[in-house]
Amino acid sequence: MPTLFTRIINREIPADIVYEDDRVVAFRDINPAAPVHILIVPRTEITGLATLPDEGDHLAILNVAKLLAEREGLVGGYRLVINQGPDGGQSVDHLHAHLLGGRKMKWPPG
Ligand code: AMP
Repeated sequence: MPTLFTRIINREIPADIVYEDDRVVAFRDINPAAPVHILIVPRTEITGLATLPDEGDHLAILNVAKLLAEREGLVGGYRLVINQGPDGGQSVDHLHAHLLGGRKMKWPPG
């Protein structure tokens, strides 16, 4: 059974895709928590950080986050978040990083 994000990657479910390459796909979060809220998702179905392999598509996430932050004009800064498991607030079991920006972030996160 493909994950929700694999179905988005395969264009079976619509999403506002802003970037893709051979390793990752990025699209705008359907329920944005900031003016810019983009999910960066490896094409490979990794459940989350807890099952991360040593190598793979996910290694592209940081550089794509940097690229998209530049494209989105986030000159004042931004935040990259990965939620892991129920206590981390993960709701979709396909590894993804949230790129959040366009407002001042609070610390610590809730
Ligand atoms: P997490 O809670 O860290 O697993 O993040 C999952 C994110 O996926 C949430 O911020 C949701 O708003 C987002 N999301 C769920 N369904 C969709 C969808 N169909 N298109 C875009 N984002 C989605």
